[in-house]
Amino acid sequence: MKREKFTGVKGMNDMLPQDAHLWHFFQKTAIGVLERYGYEEIRTPILENTRVFTRGVGEVTDIVEKEMYSFTDSLNGDQLTLRPEGTSAVVRAMNEHNLLYGAQQRVWYMGPMFRHERPQRGRYRQFHQLGVEAMGIANPEIDAEMLIMINRLWKALGLTDVRLELNTLGNLEERQAHRKALIEYFEANRELLDEDAERRLYSNPLRILDTKNPAMQDMVNAAPRLTDYLGEESQAFLNRIETLLTAAGVAYTINPRLVRGLDYYNHTVFEWITDSLGAQGTICGGGRYDPLIEMLGGRANHGVGFAIGMERVIELLRDMGTVPQKPAADVYVIHHGGETEVEAQRLSEALRDSGVRVLVTPGQAGMKGQMKKADASGARFALFVTGDELARGAVGIKALRAGETQFTEQTEVAKDEAVNQLLGAL
Ligand code: ATP
Ligand code: MG
Repeated sequence: MKREKFTGVKGMNDMLPQDAHLWHFFQKTAIGVLERYGYEEIRTPILENTRVFTRGVGEVTDIVEKEMYSFTDSLNGDQLTLRPEGTSAVVRAMNEHNLLYGAQQRVWYMGPMFRHERPQRGRYRQFHQLGVEAMGIANPEIDAEMLIMINRLWKALGLTDVRLELNTLGNLEERQAHRKALIEYFEANRELLDEDAERRLYSNPLRILDTKNPAMQDMVNAAPRLTDYLGEESQAFLNRIETLLTAAGVAYTINPRLVRGLDYYNHTVFEWITDSLGAQGTICGGGRYDPLIEMLGGRANHGVGFAIGMERVIELLRDMGTVPQKPAADVYVIHHGGETEVEAQRLSEALRDSGVRVLVTPGQAGMKGQMKKADASGARFALFVTGDELARGAVGIKALRAGETQFTEQTEVAKDEAVNQLLGAL
């Protein structure tokens, strides 16, 4: 038979064991921080009915226009989509299970998202997000607390090169007045609009401000600013957040051009950006999405949240090289097969009872090969369970790493003492 080699789907990555410690460190650290603010986990399915996203994210957005993995369920004709983001799914779940009536909800989720983008560094077709949502709270204090919490997370991860950009999108009326001014301005500059901008001119002009086209930057920079259309309440909302951030020592800049790619935001929008990752430097984006809950069939309510692009943060952690990689084992057990392996296994289980991480060669193998494996495993000690020693009711212990102070020479100990001796040395 001809050998067929398989490769993964383009833009979808394997997480290999050599990176596991980075992912685990991120997950553990993040959950630890979230728990300190009272957040609990929510898990939604990876598939949703397509409408959840076309309605939730918005028809005229990058995600819905060109990035969704959508298909028809061949069994019943349902239109389904692999989730491109988490917020719409969480809101769908909150509405479906009536969790928002007179209640506040603080939740987080972690998992894969799918977007059909051109794969490049920091931009994949399957990627992972840690998302956080606080729902049922109208006050700006929760927006501020969330930003302070994210800042704490960067610190806990040891990230230093991250900055916060903040903006407000105001309320619906303010956005409408601004929108009208924007359309007039873009119409007056029509010859400078690219194809995407032309298409969005009347459907979603705000998104033109979000363009990455360098040829449009100057024109977009001079466009009417929403700030000039903000009423007192919206201004006060933003000012309150600024006061609390300053009091907490969280640095930020106001970026009046920050609008974010999704339709559902109002008031607060923000991004955390690093210069250490090249072009894809945004590691976290979020904001307030009060309108979304009603858009997805719930009663009018409030929500604010963010999502962190985990691959990008993992890349930062990898570059820093500060997260220690734990070896796979503490003790490597070496034996001669047969009866000695039975005894080796018994001792290994006794060690594992005490939480020790143990590797044993399965089946009979040469001494040299086993020593090599023991070294490569990173284990601190080898435990020798050989015929000669067992005949004397003993086993051998030897330190494998430089810097150990006990068992630097191979030492014989009584078989029944082996576990205690090792526990004392580890
Ligand atoms: P961009 O403008 O770069 O396309 P976005 O607005 O689509 O970003 P969000 O929907 O806000 O991104 O997602 C939140 C975070 O998830 C981003 O800041 C980024 O860190 C990460 N992210 C988004 N898309 C991808 C992707 N295709 N691959 C890897 N990470 C991603
Ligand atoms: Mg995008």
